[in-house]
Amino acid sequence: MSYFQGKTALVTGAAGGIGAAIVKRLRSEGARVAVADRDVAGIDAEAHLPGNLLEAAYADGLAKAAFDALGGLDIVVNNAGVITRGAVTSTTDADWDLSLGVNVQAPFRVCRSAIPMMAGRGGGAIVNVSSCWGVRPGPNHAVYCMTKAAIASLTQCMGMDHAHQNIRINAVCPNEVNTPMLRTGFVKRGFDPDTAVAELGKTVPLGRIAEPEDIADVVVFLASDAARYMCGSLVEVNGGKPVG
Ligand code: NAD
Repeated sequence: MSYFQGKTALVTGAAGGIGAAIVKRLRSEGARVAVADRDVAGIDAEAHLPGNLLEAAYADGLAKAAFDALGGLDIVVNNAGVITRGAVTSTTDADWDLSLGVNVQAPFRVCRSAIPMMAGRGGGAIVNVSSCWGVRPGPNHAVYCMTKAAIASLTQCMGMDHAHQNIRINAVCPNEVNTPMLRTGFVKRGFDPDTAVAELGKTVPLGRIAEPEDIADVVVFLASDAARYMCGSLVEVNGGKPVG
């Protein structure tokens, strides 16, 4: 029996590597899914909610839009993210605003509006996508790491604050994943992405970096009743490689 028959879910960053895998997996398990991203054309889903998470009104209204479109909201996956590179000394104000806006403020806004709706229906599950760089420092990505630590901390605090409402809030913390985020970073630095992904794989004890489905399966587990006693947890998914 599927955990997701009759369940409704909102997934942000649904057009990206990990987001697309999460949407496919949730739908294959019977959930009805609202997809959010800047461009959601062509994504198979039950509701399409395009927009820019940096716009406060969009982020504030997203959970209600999903609720209205699907007739309920049982699961939220805050997956959208951006990465800015560099030490603090090379970080611009624009990098700061973008990173904080997408990686921290948007999930804060979505959670703030989703939690009362879930509470009113007897509970729900929220999964935030942090990073292994949210639980340990990483080199040359100071502000990105800080944003991922912020969403990790917010997850732990919200997990504590809303458990009594039967809302389980957890985060997944991946290491390197073979997605456009990682690959465009290689291209920007002048590397061939296939070669770079293969080389990086050699540094992972399991012998390869993650594919989006490796992360999506853990997200879907955390969203399901199989994780019914997990709350405020940060779950590392790293192939045995905990540091960057
Ligand atoms: P991705 O770039 O493939 O997908 C990210 C998605 O977020 C994109 O579709 C993008 O359009 C969307 N997004 C970004 N800014 C937005 C905005 N302002 N409004 C609406 N949507 C916006 O990246 P991914 O690797 O699939 O990343 C998914 C999550 O996983 C992110 O939170 C990322 O930080 C995290 N993560 C990724 C890796 C990795 O190695 N790829 C490692 C650890 C954590």
